[in-house]
Amino acid sequence: MGKIILTGDRPTGRLHLGHFVGSLRRRVELQNSGLFDKIFIMIADAQALTDNADNPEKIRQNIIEVALDYLACGIDPTKSTIFIQSQVAELCELAFYYMNLVTVSRLQRNPTVKTEIQMRNFETSIPVGFFTYPISQASDITAFRATTVPAGEDQQPMIEQAREIARRFNGIYGDTLVEPEILLPDNAACMRLPGTDGKAKMSKSLGNCIYLSDSSEEVRKRVMSMYTDPDHIRVEDPGKVEGNTVFTYLDAFCQPEHFAKYWPDYSSLDELKAHYMRGGLGDVKVKKFLYAILEELLTPIRERRKEWEKDIPAVFDILKRGSEAARAVAANTLADVRSAMRINYFDDAELIAEQSRKFQG
Ligand code: ATP
Ligand code: MG
Repeated sequence: MGKIILTGDRPTGRLHLGHFVGSLRRRVELQNSGLFDKIFIMIADAQALTDNADNPEKIRQNIIEVALDYLACGIDPTKSTIFIQSQVAELCELAFYYMNLVTVSRLQRNPTVKTEIQMRNFETSIPVGFFTYPISQASDITAFRATTVPAGEDQQPMIEQAREIARRFNGIYGDTLVEPEILLPDNAACMRLPGTDGKAKMSKSLGNCIYLSDSSEEVRKRVMSMYTDPDHIRVEDPGKVEGNTVFTYLDAFCQPEHFAKYWPDYSSLDELKAHYMRGGLGDVKVKKFLYAILEELLTPIRERRKEWEKDIPAVFDILKRGSEAARAVAANTLADVRSAMRINYFDDAELIAEQSRKFQG
């Protein structure tokens, strides 16, 4: 059986560094590795509407922003299929059947959904669509028979739930669906990149992001005002690197060669950390180093984005063709699902023959 990737992002804003280290960078590497038979990248607009029902314009405006970010990062539409979730109606039908396989209490236990409900102040009135989005996500993944989902740590409970649904379905109706595996970043700092404010997760909804399309000046401002160690007041004070966002970002982005290029006083991150912990190293210097590293990463992304921005109709065309291709694949899986569930009445000659015999005595 082939290796297939499905992954995606909600069009609730432009993509940020958290997306990049959590999933996007990996997708590009895997796309170019040639090890995967198919790669599907989904702009999850229907999922984004589950908590933005009253703001459809936000979702509409961000479709192109996310698509541009993909192309800017090196997602190649000739190698990967980029599509829009709402344009693949088959996904809704799958979700409708999967709902029978999941209990309310199982959904309530999903830790990511729990946190997100709190974040959105949904405690007293959770939209049913939002509450059940892990089921819809299971449809997205299984519709493409995905074996692999490159994603950040927050997605682990979703993939676990998708696996359970696939297993339950196969147990009842026979072997039909593929159980997906999550592919987490191998670097701990990238599993859940914190926001520039030091908060648990960089997230569009929290406004603590460095966006892939931010200008050089915006990135500089974001880095210079980043949360560090609040007790590291004077340069000579010993500083903490744990929980210090600038060092977490260095863990995520710094490569050994960056020292020779931008800060030859040190030869490794460990050496830099040791000096900071001893005292005598100011935050501004470390931030400038991080800024140089981020600029090296973001400059080519920014430039590629500018190129694609010149031809927006071409980007929409990529999305349209991708959505058509995705729809054909999902329809195929849905046909298998219907047949396994014994609801394929009209293309089941056996059923008609059997019923005829029954009534003719
Ligand atoms: P929203 O606030 O609308 O939920 P988000 O910023 O959390 O947006 P998503 O579209 O939900 O972004 O996430 C898309 C992908 O990016 C997922 O694979 C997720 O794990 C990954 N991701 C998002 N934020 C981070 C982060 N801070 N660190 C690592 N991975 C992340
Ligand atoms: Mg999210």
